[in-house]
Amino acid sequence: MEIILDFTVKENTVQDFKKVLLPDVDIDILEAKTLEETKEKISIELSANGRKKIFTLKNYTDKMVDQKTVMLKAGMLLLFDKVYPWGALVGVRPTKLIRRYLVMGYSYEEIDEILDKLYFVFPEKRKLLLDVVKKENQYLNAKGINMYVGIPYCPTRCKYCSFASYEINSKLGNFYNEFVDTLIEEIKLTGEILKNKNSKIESLYFGGGTPSILTEKDLVRVIEALYENIDLTHLKEFTFEAGREDTLNKEKLEILKRLGVDRLSLNPQTFNENILKNLNRHFDKKHFDEMFQEIKKLGFVVNMDFIIGLPGETVEDILRTFEEVKKYPIDNLTIHFLAVKNGSNLIKDKYKITEIENQKIEEKIKEVIEEKNMKPYYLYRQKNSMNWGENVGYSIEGKESIFNIEMIEENQSTVGLGGGAISKKVEYIDETRVSIERYINPKDPYMYICEMKDRMKQKEEFFSSL
Ligand code: SF4
Repeated sequence: MEIILDFTVKENTVQDFKKVLLPDVDIDILEAKTLEETKEKISIELSANGRKKIFTLKNYTDKMVDQKTVMLKAGMLLLFDKVYPWGALVGVRPTKLIRRYLVMGYSYEEIDEILDKLYFVFPEKRKLLLDVVKKENQYLNAKGINMYVGIPYCPTRCKYCSFASYEINSKLGNFYNEFVDTLIEEIKLTGEILKNKNSKIESLYFGGGTPSILTEKDLVRVIEALYENIDLTHLKEFTFEAGREDTLNKEKLEILKRLGVDRLSLNPQTFNENILKNLNRHFDKKHFDEMFQEIKKLGFVVNMDFIIGLPGETVEDILRTFEEVKKYPIDNLTIHFLAVKNGSNLIKDKYKITEIENQKIEEKIKEVIEEKNMKPYYLYRQKNSMNWGENVGYSIEGKESIFNIEMIEENQSTVGLGGGAISKKVEYIDETRVSIERYINPKDPYMYICEMKDRMKQKEEFFSSL
């Protein structure tokens, strides 16, 4: 697409926008010219493929530097009659944009107007976005840091999985013991790196993989190594993913409780056992319920994750799952739309997402969260996901996960340990600009084991300014 303009834009961002939101439209030449630009308003005329549209808007450029770029992109939707719930917003983290507008000095009302008139976002999505940002702002703390521990093993690999995860009974599963020993060594060396640094670890998160696959003995060894080597005195929450019921037993739950874990994430994804079986994921509802009872007895804050759009699931199946969810006294509920990602077996199988009728599902989710008195507290969007949907975490008041909020907002630095763990160094350049550097541990347990010592030298350098 050739772009002819009488103002300056970052052309590649316009090309990318077209690819994502107008993939089915062939445009040879896109033209835009400024018809009027006063203190009060900006008016541009867009034309392409014999179509013409005038887009006029209040002038926000006292604070917003890229208004005409956004008008050009959103104007393409007008020009080709494209209407989307999220309008011209394409980012994975739309809440970050809202927070930037807040720092620029806009009020929530003004931001709502900008989302409506400039980005064409539907009212319900605007409300969701602004509610989430208001909630996040109660928790965000750029002065703290967080810690992530990745356990890259699972009982089996789910077909949609794109995470750092290997089957425990695969060849790489043979390295399990060495992996745990190496992780403990990494914890010790990280303790050395963090010593005398002023950063306070606010949240600790075990993910993967399925961390609850660790044996009872190794749960104790790994968590005790953390307490012995890392300053966790400022910890506000300690979350452990117990995503697969087939890795859980009473003893493990008691160990986690005794060692300070206060939040567990159970991830059934659906209560439809056949669908899970077809995805290579064992699920025994009876055992799940027994474990849930234990978890509640021990007093954990509980999250449950679900995915909408799993292969083979009908709208009726999904509604049945959410009806079932009502029975569980949980604190958090996280709802994802299926995304077919590189690295998953669904991609290898050339699986294509089929759109399903969304309205009944949205109504059901609303019903469940209202009944549970939950509110949305974090959200992100994913490319290649069903219906271009957003993934939303809901919570009972006061039970929000600060780790999830900080991760999505990329507001705090992260010390990542274990397989596939991503460390992040977040530095504020000024109020609205942030620089983020990443350091990624190998996913593959064998590589993780072999490279750990060398990597720690690089990590020492990486975290030198923490
Ligand atoms: S449980 Fe999670 S991490 Fe493990 S294979 Fe399934 S999707 Fe991947």
